[in-house]
Amino acid sequence: ETLTAVSVAACFDYALRLYQARLNDASVQVERRFAEQEVWVRADLVRLEQVLVNLIGNALQAMSETPDPRLTLSVERRGAEVLIGVADNGPGIAEEHLGRLFEPFFTTKSPGNGLGLGLSISSRIIDDLGGSLNAVNRPAGGALFTIRLPADAASD
Ligand code: ADP
Ligand code: MG
Repeated sequence: ETLTAVSVAACFDYALRLYQARLNDASVQVERRFAEQEVWVRADLVRLEQVLVNLIGNALQAMSETPDPRLTLSVERRGAEVLIGVADNGPGIAEEHLGRLFEPFFTTKSPGNGLGLGLSISSRIIDDLGGSLNAVNRPAGGALFTIRLPADAASD
């Protein structure tokens, strides 16, 4: 693991570039709620990118039947922590599934559409970086995944 100062905005840019064609094809509106000042975390760049790619991929799959799909990405520094959000306006997560999302091989997708490993791997990666990954349903509908990671103190 290579821990360095990682720009969260740059990681999001990388993930969005990967999905650019799908975002355009599905006319997904991408909203960035970023702080004016660049936010840095202490993390492994490639692994954080991998997590964001997983979360955005899930959000896009969840919104495949949503009439006006909207992906909301957020970054916020809160003291020594950084909160990174990936939210969608899809159907959200069934209450009975909320506690199982991060289990290896838990999936509600048909075979071929999902192995059920993305979230378990993502949560493991974030844990290893000294953070946490959580999922909730948004009051207005859709799912919100929040990553908490240590801020990079040296970037202050
Ligand atoms: P997979 O995508 O292969 O199913 P994941 O570990 O990435 O595996 O996700 C596990 C399950 O969590 C999904 O099958 C789905 O039921 C649920 N899930 C993940 N992201 C979302 C989301 N944005 N909205 C609704 N459900 C979600
Ligand atoms: Mg997935």
